[in-house]
Amino acid sequence: MKIRLKLTLLFAGLFAILLMAFSIVVYLSAADQREEEYFKRLRQLAITKTRLLVEAKIDPAVLQLIYKSSLNTLPQEEVAIFDTSFHILYHDANDIDRVKETTGMIDSIKTMKEIHFYVDDLQAIGFLHSFDGKTYAITAAARDVTGLKKLNTLRITLLIGNCAAILFTLLAGMLFARKALKPVSTMVDRVADISASRLDLRLGTGNGKDEIAELAITFNRMLDRLEASFDGTKQFVSNISHELRTPLAALIAELEIAAMKARTTEEYKQVIGTTLLDARRLSRLSTDLLDLAKASYDQSGINYKELRLDEVLLDARKETLKANPRYHVDIHFAKELEEGDPVTIRGNEYLLRVAFINLIENACKFSANHTCAISIGFDANDLLLKFSDQGIGIPTEDIAHIFTPFYRGENKRHAPGNGIGLSLTSRIIQLHSGSIAVESETGKGTTFSIHIPYSIL
Ligand code: ADP
Repeated sequence: MKIRLKLTLLFAGLFAILLMAFSIVVYLSAADQREEEYFKRLRQLAITKTRLLVEAKIDPAVLQLIYKSSLNTLPQEEVAIFDTSFHILYHDANDIDRVKETTGMIDSIKTMKEIHFYVDDLQAIGFLHSFDGKTYAITAAARDVTGLKKLNTLRITLLIGNCAAILFTLLAGMLFARKALKPVSTMVDRVADISASRLDLRLGTGNGKDEIAELAITFNRMLDRLEASFDGTKQFVSNISHELRTPLAALIAELEIAAMKARTTEEYKQVIGTTLLDARRLSRLSTDLLDLAKASYDQSGINYKELRLDEVLLDARKETLKANPRYHVDIHFAKELEEGDPVTIRGNEYLLRVAFINLIENACKFSANHTCAISIGFDANDLLLKFSDQGIGIPTEDIAHIFTPFYRGENKRHAPGNGIGLSLTSRIIQLHSGSIAVESETGKGTTFSIHIPYSIL
C-alpha cells in the first residue's frame, strides 16, 4: 500500500471515529433530554387533572368530556387516578386502557414514589400526589410524537452529515497527501534519470527547510561525492593508460629502429641499455600502481602489526641505497629519544617502507648533494618523522597539487618519475591515522613532516 493511501486512510479513519463518537454522544444526550422532558410533561398533565378532580372537585364525567373534546391533549394520552387502596377515582377514556394498572404497580409506586416505564410505544409515569391529607397514586401515559420525530430527524441529519464529512475528509486527505508527497514522486522520477553517465543531475531542494528538502540536500551531497570519486577514477584510469603508453611507445620505437638494419655490437648494447631503462621505468610504474590500488581500494587485505619504525626506516634506507649507491641517507634521533629506545607503532611494514622509500628518493633525486636527512622524534601522542633535503625545493603553486596522483611539479625535468610517489605516501600515512605536511623553499630545500600515532609496548 502506498504511503499516500495509508496516510489518507489513517487520517480519515481517525476523523471518522472521532466524528461518530461525538455524534453518538450528541444523539444520546438529545434522546435523554427528550425523555426527561416528556416525563416532566406527563407528570404536569397528570397533576393538573388530579387537582381538577380532588381540589376543584370537578366531576370525573366532566373531566372525561373535557379530555375527549380537548385539542390540547397529548397523543394517545391516558391518565388514571387511584387512591392508595387501588380504587380507581378517574380514568381518561373507559374504552382505551393500554396501561394495565395492577396492585403490584400501585405498590411499587407507593414504595418508589415515582416510576418510569414504557408500554409499547407509550411513555408512562406513575407517582404519588398528596392533597388534604390523602395520597393518590397516579399513572399517566402518552406518545411523544413530536419529540420522537425530532429525534429521528436528528439521527438522519447526523448520519448524512457523518457520511458527507467522512467522504469529504477522504477526498481532501487524498488531495493533501498527494500535494504533500508530490516532491517525493518528483524525486523518484529524477533519481530514475540519474545514471553513471548523468551523475551531474541533482534533485530539486524545494523550500530548503522541510524534511524532504533535507533528504534532497543530503542526497545531492552524496551525488557530489560520488561524482568527484567517479571523475577521480576516470582521471586515474586515463592517466594510467597515458603513463603506460609513453614508455611503451618509446620502447617499441627504439626496438623498431634497431631492427631496421644490421647493427654493430656496440649499437645493440646501447639499444639494450635504453630499452632496459624504459622497461625498468614501466616495472616501477606498475609496482607503484599496484601499491596505490592496495592502499586505496583493497584495504581489507592490509595487515597491521606492532612494528619498530626505526627498523622500517633502516630497511627503507638500505633498499634505496642498494638501487642508488650515490645517495646519502642520515637518520638521527631527536634528543629526547635515545637511540635504542623502542619506537613502536601499529602498522603495515611493507606499505610504510614504500612510503619512506618514496620520500627518501624524492629528497635525494631533487637535491644536488643527493642527501636526505631523517629525524625521529615524538610528542605526547605521535611519532614525528622529518625527511629533509637541501635541494631545489617545490614552487609554491605546485605545493597544493603534489599529493594528487600523477601530478609532477614544475621541477620534474630535474629528475625522472611518474607522479605517483607522494599520493601513495599520503594515502599510506592516512591508513595509519597519521598526517603529512610539507614545507619548501625554492633553491633551499624541502622538509616533509609526518605524524603517526604510536604506542610504546
Ligand atoms: P615523482 O617524484 O615521481 O615526480 P611524486 O609524487 O613523488 O612524483 O612527487 C610529485 C612532485 O612533487 C614531484 O614531481 C616534484 O615536483 C615534487 N617533489 C616531491 N618531493 C620533492 C622534493 N623533495 N624536492 C623537490 N620537489 C619535490
